[in-house]
Amino acid sequence: MAIVGGGIGGLTLALSLQSRGIAADVYEQASGFHEVGAAVALSANGTRVLRDLGVGDRLDICSAVPTELIYRHWRDGRRLRAFEAGETYEKRFGAPYYGVHRADLQQILVAACDPERVHLGHRAVDLTEAADGVRLTFADGRAVTADVVVGADGVHSTVRSHITDTDTLRYSGTSGFRGLIPAEQLPNLPDPGAIQFWMGPGGHLLHYPIGGGELINFLAVRHEPETWPDSAWARPAPPEEIAAAFGGWHPAVVDMVTATSIHQRWALFTQDPSNRWHRGRVVLLGDAVHAMLPHHGQGANQSIEDAAVLAACLTEADGDDPSAALGRYERLRRTRTRQVQRSSWVASDLLHLPDGPEAEQRDRNLATIDETLDWIHGYDATAA
Ligand SMILES: Cc1cc2nc3c(=O)[nH]c(=O)nc-3n(C[C@H](O)[C@H](O)[C@H](O)COP(=O)(O)OP(=O)(O)OC[C@H]3O[C@@H](n4cnc5c(N)ncnc54)[C@H](O)[C@@H]3O)c2cc1C
Repeated sequence: MAIVGGGIGGLTLALSLQSRGIAADVYEQASGFHEVGAAVALSANGTRVLRDLGVGDRLDICSAVPTELIYRHWRDGRRLRAFEAGETYEKRFGAPYYGVHRADLQQILVAACDPERVHLGHRAVDLTEAADGVRLTFADGRAVTADVVVGADGVHSTVRSHITDTDTLRYSGTSGFRGLIPAEQLPNLPDPGAIQFWMGPGGHLLHYPIGGGELINFLAVRHEPETWPDSAWARPAPPEEIAAAFGGWHPAVVDMVTATSIHQRWALFTQDPSNRWHRGRVVLLGDAVHAMLPHHGQGANQSIEDAAVLAACLTEADGDDPSAALGRYERLRRTRTRQVQRSSWVASDLLHLPDGPEAEQRDRNLATIDETLDWIHGYDATAA
């Protein structure tokens, strides 16, 4: 097995296969796991899988558990709806909710994998199928042959072009700013231990604590610009642009977005749902096949679910012809990931309503947010 991409999905797959006695090599283009200024929220549907893989204790040490989930008004900061998180959440879903630094999560996963099978500095550029396997070629000319190749290489996947020639990458019309800010620099922030959405006209701010709770990770989204010129993740955004995007918002919001040292505007991309997840001995996983808006905090969690299901299907695969196993994986995952993708689009519009009757209706509907959490966070990929 060769896995292209040592992101959250690729590494979880490597570990899941290893736990089932299947050897897998991970080929990651980066020279190390040290992405700066980025965190990820892991919900019970993801942490359940990670716990089963034996990394729960290490995750527990370097993650923060949010105290509450709170929705607030963008300008006056009033609590529109709040739900207990912490132990109540864990009791309800059988696994915790964590805020964790992305590099910490990757390092935990790598440490649990066979170190000889994680190859950094390997950028895959081409693959060709032959009778005896798939030949994978890297940018420096090296090549390997594998029985099955998994494209876990993210939203700008190279492997995807082997499966489909339709370009399904779509700019969402929304973009964001992000950063990690010490909580002590945010004196105006109420409930720094909670995961909070501040919802306002044409934008929202999401933040949650990570690590020991001393750092706040935020993503501040604006429903603009209408178009993005290319497929680049980000472009420079001077501090004045960031401040102007949230001018007039609650002081806690303004403090947070203006405190970031990352002066970039990130485009939010999605993949249009794909009807083809595999071809021959090559298969896709995670953002490579279903990149979604981050408003349910599910991109990484869905990659983790994919990994658990793909590993289970491959365990039962026919060694000479894995296509039945890959087809089964696709059938098990396609509907689920489409539903989460669609729901994340709906959330994007709801989070950005201007004050008025529609926003009031949304706020009343927040009373039933539990139902959304049930079908997303309550999902048990291994059982499925
Ligand atoms: C601003 C923002 C906030 C988010 N917040 C959350 C959140 O709170 N919770 C959540 O669940 N999700 C969140 N997501 C989504 C989440 O980050 C992704 O869905 C998740 O990382 C996807 O995992 P992946 O393994 O599929 O891809 P990635 O994590 O993108 O990993 C792909 C890997 O492949 C490598 N790679 C790419 N091309 C090649 C190549 N040719 N050869 C070798 N290696 C290659 C890359 O270097 C990378 O390491 C967020 C996304 C954004 C943009």
